[in-house]
Amino acid sequence: MGGTEVESFEREFAGYHGAQHALAVTNGTHALELALQAMGVGPGTEVIVPGFTFISSSQAAQRIGAVAVPVDVDPDTYCVDVAAAAAAITSRTRVIMPVHMAGLIADMDGLDKLAADSGVQLLQDAAHAHGAQWQGKRVGELGSVAVFSFQNGKLMTAGEGGAVLFPDEEMYEQAFLRHSCGRPRTDRRYHHQIAGTNMRMNEFSAAVLRAQMTRLDAQIEVRGQRWQAFSDLLAQIPGVRPQSGDPRADRNPHYMAMFRLPGWSEERRNLLVDRLVEAGIPAFAAFRAIYRTAAFWETGAPAESVDAVAERCPNVEAISQDCVWLHHRTLLASEQDLADTAAIVAELVATG
Ligand SMILES: *Cc1c(COP(=O)(O)O)cnc(C)c1O
Repeated sequence: MGGTEVESFEREFAGYHGAQHALAVTNGTHALELALQAMGVGPGTEVIVPGFTFISSSQAAQRIGAVAVPVDVDPDTYCVDVAAAAAAITSRTRVIMPVHMAGLIADMDGLDKLAADSGVQLLQDAAHAHGAQWQGKRVGELGSVAVFSFQNGKLMTAGEGGAVLFPDEEMYEQAFLRHSCGRPRTDRRYHHQIAGTNMRMNEFSAAVLRAQMTRLDAQIEVRGQRWQAFSDLLAQIPGVRPQSGDPRADRNPHYMAMFRLPGWSEERRNLLVDRLVEAGIPAFAAFRAIYRTAAFWETGAPAESVDAVAERCPNVEAISQDCVWLHHRTLLASEQDLADTAAIVAELVATG
């Protein structure tokens, strides 16, 4: 008997997001690998990913033998550009992976239409999007497979952990087998049915995550109110452009408070981040374009040069150099603290 925390967490997490099934796993990167495999991704196939994301989005596809194809993002939401995704579809494309950047849901209407027209499936990388909504619908109600992370920095955490939401029983059962060494739930005779590995979440993590679910809504509420005020203050600073939303993304849990400094070089942005950190603000440089890392080109890269990819991803190029983000705990502080933070940003931007 292994305990009941994982099963309870899966049921509660699926219910909270309006999904039929949730599978709790070791981490978000494994969750992406497992989901992609359940969707038929492997050698000889391609997965379209935004060029601006945490590298797990592309590494998960590459790790299971597929080619990751980076495409451009929107300059304001930083989420995948639907037209760019459409242009990258080939006969080998199995999946388009929108990333809900910082909790802001990608254009799911445009992507659903693209998926329906092209026959390519969607996999939502919702590692930033616990509790997020698109037109009143939670991630699990949007009809596609979705992946979450509970890594140390995320909005819900057990140090490490991940989950996959499935709208479909068959894919869920297949993923269950794969995440548990190919072994059915009730097996006592070592009849491993399909190839797999151990990606199971442990009972301790599930217990921690169940407790965290009880405070998620209240925290989302506070961060939402604070971001509204804070982004207004940021927008008043000359040269600063806060991440801005598609109004259809009508609930944002705000994993990061992101803003751009259009026209700034990477070096100048990095110096600003250092000065913000010195001033006591938990600031970070935004993700490097995935195709500008050595890791991306080791395996499963498209047959293109870096320059060719960069040329069709102008917004990824700009955002990855000029964007700064602040840790989500910033948005749980008092309104006065946030006004002080905005004042520091204004001063350092003006002198940076
Ligand atoms: C954190 C993250 C992941 C991976 O999650 P881990 O639990 O750290 O493996 C995947 N995608 C995005 C966008 C992330 O930010």
